[in-house]
Amino acid sequence: MSDTTADQRRVAEAETLLVACPTDASVNRVPHAKLARSPKCGRCHNPLFAGKAVELDGANFDSHALRSDLPVVVDFWAEWCGPCRMMTPNFEMAAPRLEPLVRLGKLDTEAHPAIAGRYGIRAIPSMGMIRKGREIARTSGVLPTSAIVDWVEQALRGAALTSVKA
Ligand SMILES: [Zn+2]
Repeated sequence: MSDTTADQRRVAEAETLLVACPTDASVNRVPHAKLARSPKCGRCHNPLFAGKAVELDGANFDSHALRSDLPVVVDFWAEWCGPCRMMTPNFEMAAPRLEPLVRLGKLDTEAHPAIAGRYGIRAIPSMGMIRKGREIARTSGVLPTSAIVDWVEQALRGAALTSVKA
């Protein structure tokens, strides 16, 4: 039994994940074991995890939401929406607590209605967890930072994605 566990551990350590860079959206292959050790982008050399939410747009959305192996938690918001502005700092503060488990990103639904439409976003603020293009979980309304963290961890458990945890 211990042999099997050791084998599984070796496999897990050898495993690599595709991670999109928050600066230039290039997709990096990162060994699982290095995820939590401040990996840098091979192209721009900026940190792959900067403790901040990424501004998502038409140019980088697919890198984070489709090509990356990490789930991206998207805050769907708009400038005119008061509750969204209350949510923004809470969401930002959740980023350093949740990386490198997930990527956090913000999507302006007014500027990028096609992407919001793809996920059928009707109420804002809404948070959606997306991995490989598929929405895993969604919640709506303003949440404090601790509730955002709890919701993400619960959604990861529900989707059996906790193995991503470094
Ligand atoms: Zn980069």
